[in-house]
Amino acid sequence: MDRANVVVIGGGVVGCAIAHALSSRWQDVFVLEALPKLGMLTSTRNSGVIHSGIYYPPGSLKARHCVRGNRLMYEFCRAQNVPHKNIGKIVVASSPEQENDLRALMKNGEANGVEGLRIIDRPAMRAREPHVEGCCALEVPSTGILSSEDLVKAFARVAADRGAHILNHAKVERLETIPDGIRVTSAAGEIETNCLVNSAGLFADDIAAMIGSNMARHKIYPVRGEYCELVRAKQDWVRGLVYPLPHAPGLSLGTHLTKTLWGSVLVGPTARYIEDKNDYERDREPVDDFARAAGILLPGIERSDFVLAYSGIRPKLIPPSSPDVHEHGTGIVDFIIERDPEFPRVLQLMGIESPGLTSAPAIAEHVTQLVSEILN
Ligand SMILES: Cc1cc2nc3c(=O)[nH]c(=O)nc-3n(C[C@H](O)[C@H](O)[C@H](O)COP(=O)(O)OP(=O)(O)OC[C@H]3O[C@@H](n4cnc5c(N)ncnc54)[C@H](O)[C@@H]3O)c2cc1C
Repeated sequence: MDRANVVVIGGGVVGCAIAHALSSRWQDVFVLEALPKLGMLTSTRNSGVIHSGIYYPPGSLKARHCVRGNRLMYEFCRAQNVPHKNIGKIVVASSPEQENDLRALMKNGEANGVEGLRIIDRPAMRAREPHVEGCCALEVPSTGILSSEDLVKAFARVAADRGAHILNHAKVERLETIPDGIRVTSAAGEIETNCLVNSAGLFADDIAAMIGSNMARHKIYPVRGEYCELVRAKQDWVRGLVYPLPHAPGLSLGTHLTKTLWGSVLVGPTARYIEDKNDYERDREPVDDFARAAGILLPGIERSDFVLAYSGIRPKLIPPSSPDVHEHGTGIVDFIIERDPEFPRVLQLMGIESPGLTSAPAIAEHVTQLVSEILN
């Protein structure tokens, strides 16, 4: 039977970034991915935005890992030729009453260490985005876009070059503790490991339950985010990244406009709790809803300017019934990244929703530090 130093469950962007970081220090690092390809779930069903870190509470893991991840991400993309662009973004105040919220957002971003933030007036906003309507906007220069598929592949490629073993078709089915480690049974066979990293995204609570951990109490609630695209004839209506103020319940950043690396414009994502973690398509939101939401930022855009695009599913830790979602508008819950108190050779990563793509290299540094406590 193979013996590993570290087994990472999940070959999404986070699992692959972790393998990339760990393989520079340790031999016998394994990634076990259930599906035939890496990154097929949330890691490539997202907006592909390199976030700046303006939204999250100062001191939170989301704030720290996003701000550091932003810098590390640009460095990695440059070094590994991952297609990306630092195009910046604007957050638009649609009415004078929203100006205070915009200033509060700017203060929050500054407290998180985001650089270069400034409020621009309507003429400056229109010079940048001639079709966008609003009173003023917050300019966020460190935001960018990337190709998430190429990113996942690049993390995995460098990790494999350093000797990591990355296995697809390797769904983990059983976990048992043994005296000096964990025995992992997957569709690819059995392996014993000194350390286990649960990076299974939407299924991280199921993995925690599989080993019998009390951390399975952090139930993951799937929240689907759906996208439309603007038709080709309207793609030049949007030049960069245009956001409204965040969705009040904190579930999402609000339906925004994302210019992709390929010139298309994504509209979305929406946010809706669903029952099934694998349900990407059933009961899609009507195009009229996208047209209505986008029409606030882009007056004159019509229903016929939209076509349905893909969707992704957020691994939320906050239940739909929580008063934080419905009343307090504070639905931002932090990432969980910790050694399992009952199973100290196991690291649990739970609730790695947005900005998880941006944060991946910083999460990988954090995990490397926890792994070194176990292995050294
Ligand atoms: C609509 C949407 C938009 C987003 N936009 C952005 C954005 O613009 N910028 C940003 O920074 N973040 C964004 N995010 C968040 C970001 O996409 C995620 O935080 C990130 O992709 C999480 O990566 P992951 O590797 O943890 O999860 P995943 O990509 O879900 O990977 C987990 C992997 O584990 C595998 N797995 C599960 N169970 C098992 C098992 N038993 N055995 C083996 N493998 C298993 C799965 O098959 C999967 O491949 C967005 C998310 C959504 C849903």
